[in-house]
Amino acid sequence: MSFHSHKNSGVEKKLFVSLTNSYHGETIGALSVGDVKLYKDTYEPLLIQTVQTPVPKDMSIESAKEAAFMFEELCKERADEISAIILEPLVQGAGYMHMYHKEFLVLVRGICNKYDIHMIADEVMVGFGRTGEMFACQSADITPDFLVLSKGLTGGYLPLSVVLTTDEIYARFYCEYNEHKAFLHSHSYTGNALACAAANATLDIFERDGVIEKNREIARYMGKKLLKFQELQNVASIRRTGMICAVELKGYKSHERIGLKVYQYGLNNGVLLRPLGHVVYFMPPYIITKAECDKMMDTAYEAIKSLF
Ligand SMILES: *Cc1c(COP(=O)(O)O)cnc(C)c1O
Repeated sequence: MSFHSHKNSGVEKKLFVSLTNSYHGETIGALSVGDVKLYKDTYEPLLIQTVQTPVPKDMSIESAKEAAFMFEELCKERADEISAIILEPLVQGAGYMHMYHKEFLVLVRGICNKYDIHMIADEVMVGFGRTGEMFACQSADITPDFLVLSKGLTGGYLPLSVVLTTDEIYARFYCEYNEHKAFLHSHSYTGNALACAAANATLDIFERDGVIEKNREIARYMGKKLLKFQELQNVASIRRTGMICAVELKGYKSHERIGLKVYQYGLNNGVLLRPLGHVVYFMPPYIITKAECDKMMDTAYEAIKSLF
């Protein structure tokens, strides 16, 4: 849609930029902009050429500025080829729950405006309240040109995704049928009625039950409990954005499958943990209670402690 809308305005821009360590899904286009080797390597010969610009290396504002500077350097060279940059706002999910400062989003928005590049926010994972705002982009007070949503849209119960765009981009496709400007890119199950009903029911719950407010309170509670993990000798660091907490382990080689041991400990003790490599993380359903948080995080703490 980004490529096509540029084309409708008379410019052909073929290049898509994404962040290092990003994950956007596994169909060809999505895999092409992704940067997690585990998923990508096998299909490499089939993929579209894309360019990666560095993700901020940690949650500091300095790292956000450094990474934005690198993106602008790329734009100075190749802006006339670049259609869009796609990114996961604030948290790279499948990329080991890597987190960065919201200032990066503000700076990228500015650079995109300056060089006529679309900003695509993939909020498939962080959307619908996960980071403490309904959408992660709101925490940076920016509006992307495209907003990609799924997962939380149906409360995770039925497959449905949506792409939102601006009136300006919508207008570029508006035409008579024979003008080749229309967006003819559809799927058999577009607007599936059952999935849309599940989405409407989910949105009703957001409106009715003060979900975001409750999330923030649980997230603060999880944040307090997270501090304790820092005391463990095999913990390198901890981090949190909204209701996503991550604990990074240190001192292990990848063949040791340390995550698997944590997973098995959890399973034996009634908790479903699902570490990504050496990162144990918590991203619980919003209905979780504080007592259940205790169970989840205390069990993970014991699991990590049992490793030494
Ligand atoms: C899960 C995820 C996707 C992939 O969604 P699919 O429906 O599996 O294609 C894309 N982007 C992000 C950020 C995700 O976390």
